[in-house]
Amino acid sequence: MSSNLSKNTTKKILVTGGAGYIGSHTCVELLNDGHEIIVLDNLSNSSEESLKRVQEITGKTLEFVKGDIRDHKLLNSLFSNHEIASVIHFAGLKAVGESVSMPLAYYDNNVNGTLVLLEAMKQANVKTLVFSSSATVYGDPASLPISEDFPTSATNPYGRSKLMIEEILQDLHVSDNSWRIALLRYFNPVGAHPSGRIGEDPNDIPNNLMPYIAQVAIGKLDKLSVFGNDYPTHDGTGVRDYIHVVDLSLGHVRAIEKLQKTAGIHAWNLGVGKGYSVLEMVAAFEQASQQPVPYQFAPRRSGDIAACYANPEKALNELGWKAEKGVDDMVSDSWRWQSVNPNGYHS
Ligand code: NAD
Ligand code: UDP
Repeated sequence: MSSNLSKNTTKKILVTGGAGYIGSHTCVELLNDGHEIIVLDNLSNSSEESLKRVQEITGKTLEFVKGDIRDHKLLNSLFSNHEIASVIHFAGLKAVGESVSMPLAYYDNNVNGTLVLLEAMKQANVKTLVFSSSATVYGDPASLPISEDFPTSATNPYGRSKLMIEEILQDLHVSDNSWRIALLRYFNPVGAHPSGRIGEDPNDIPNNLMPYIAQVAIGKLDKLSVFGNDYPTHDGTGVRDYIHVVDLSLGHVRAIEKLQKTAGIHAWNLGVGKGYSVLEMVAAFEQASQQPVPYQFAPRRSGDIAACYANPEKALNELGWKAEKGVDDMVSDSWRWQSVNPNGYHS
């Protein structure tokens, strides 16, 4: 790993936020696919250890630059010192609840950070971008499954930042149609690399279901609060489209390949196309871990919707991508990561 900014002539992919949960798994798949990558991350929600392990898993090296996407000078020097062909942009803040209490930090990091990145890309004439969007841009959908042409809306600053960035990217493409942009709308990424070496490592008490369940199963947390048991779903608990992070990462590799062949701006759902309830996920986790996951019912969490799952056919037809892993892989890989690394990268 090096932060050497000297002139390098091999065409590379810049991965912002590449030390994070989805970014680190995507780095593995990009390296396995023969790409050269530079990771730019300020480590605000990650550890450099993830990148060491990415290199250990793949037996390949990557370049790491510790820095912020809002740092104009750093970005300009990155683009002028390296032959960067494209950018995969993961960097950003992602906690919905926190975004409600700190909206300015979210708009600054996510929206302003993306503007600084786009300006540097434009100046360097690098016009291929894969952006981490989210199924949250569909708001509360009128019907299921959700297709890419469904109306978009946002109910909190995090979701609004994703929607704003999507709209900025649409405007950018209208202004110059040589841009090649993928808006990847993730459903619920879970699981970990099957090696057990990289996974999700939340800083505090997890907000998301899967890391919370994993920490209950290992005894770090007492019990899960199931938010709502009166939704109009088959068992009353919320239904989501959980997707294995390795499948999700492979979707980025397919999107980069597609953009190399096709101009334009495209939205693609990255989901499995099936919904599982909270209680089904708890049962699957108990089965995989052979550990009890005690839970109690609690009131609905503000802003949550009853059910959400993708129609993933557009990604299949246009990217040749579909999720291959099932819930059993998701929970067993999650449990392996949690049990081998009870304190994440600080274990
Ligand atoms: P993560 O927090 O693990 O990764 C984000 C990375 O970006 C971290 O390593 C963090 O240190 C870095 N970062 C944040 N702000 C930065 C900045 N200003 N400059 C440089 N680096 C910065 O999150 P993740 O789960 O891997 O998510 C990656 C992307 O996918 C995010 O944009 C997120 O909004 C989006 N997304 C995530 C989910 C999910 O459930 N995990 C769902 C939909 C969309
Ligand atoms: N959930 C829950 N308890 C928790 C965390 C989440 O019951 O501690 C539920 C949540 O209400 C939703 C599902 O699990 O129905 C997935 O929530 P998560 O926060 O993981 O993802 P979201 O779909 O909200 O992005």
